[in-house]
Amino acid sequence: KKKPYCYDVINFANQSLYCMPGGNEGKDEVKLYEEMAYKNSKGEAGHIQIQIIRDPASGTSRPRWIIHLHSVSLERELANKYQDQRQKKEELSVLALHDEMTGLNNYRSFSNSFKSEVQRSFRYGYELGLVICDIDFFKKFNDTYGHQQGDQVLRAVAATLKKCVRTSDFVARYGGEEFVIFLPQTGLEGIGVVMEKVRQGVEDCLVDDINTPENHLSVTLSLGGVSIDKCDMNLGSDCDVKPFIESADKNLYQAKESGRNCCIVSKYKK
Ligand code: GH3
Ligand code: MG
Ligand code: MG
Repeated sequence: KKKPYCYDVINFANQSLYCMPGGNEGKDEVKLYEEMAYKNSKGEAGHIQIQIIRDPASGTSRPRWIIHLHSVSLERELANKYQDQRQKKEELSVLALHDEMTGLNNYRSFSNSFKSEVQRSFRYGYELGLVICDIDFFKKFNDTYGHQQGDQVLRAVAATLKKCVRTSDFVARYGGEEFVIFLPQTGLEGIGVVMEKVRQGVEDCLVDDINTPENHLSVTLSLGGVSIDKCDMNLGSDCDVKPFIESADKNLYQAKESGRNCCIVSKYKK
């Protein structure tokens, strides 16, 4: 550069750095100083790495030197900033796929994962289970105990659902007081076992009464499930999973009609 460009004025603690050790001898010497402390014109302290290199393009009669200043402080500051941004991005993507109240996967997450699972099961010829769960008389529960208590129930049911299934199974809050589970590589009998386990788990679950801590409240769940075979899954490229959900929903309706707090499971019906 014709005119030197000044970014900042720095005062090195070690004044001897203004001279280049060995420079007078005219050697192409490289000096790397690990982390020198400095203060800038605003009095801000930092750390810098300084590298002094003989400019190979300069002649021996008028040697030039390249002084490379590398701000370690700035580098760290930027690294932290990007780390923060990465963390924020991760947090946002967790929020985008999870229900804030219960911490379960949300509908969007379920929808994407279920589609992929149907395609995977079709490819490998696995059976697949789908279960929809709905809390019984939840409106009445809210009306009697209030919405906050209702929210506490949703959290307790969500935790119970998670506890009753395998980590390889998928649980999501479908919406309102409805939850959905899919069970990879699980046939009719297995689905029935899981459903009963979930139903019993929720029946046994004592929810804290937020107004009277010594009291506990109970709720029940109705469940509708279907087993889906490979022959049901030839869905074309856009993979419409709605018919499976509708079929499970019909069984859920049957469970409600049969007096609630029960499970109905069948093979998927178109
Ligand atoms: P059923 O046994 O037939 O399922 O009766 P229900 O009262 O559970 O069913 P309904 O669909 O009539 O009512 C669902 C209620 O769920 C309505 C609403 O008050 C409640 N609900 C939905 N989302 C939330 C929520 O996020 N928090 C709370 N506290 N209540 C919710
Ligand atoms: Mg409902
Ligand atoms: Mg309900």
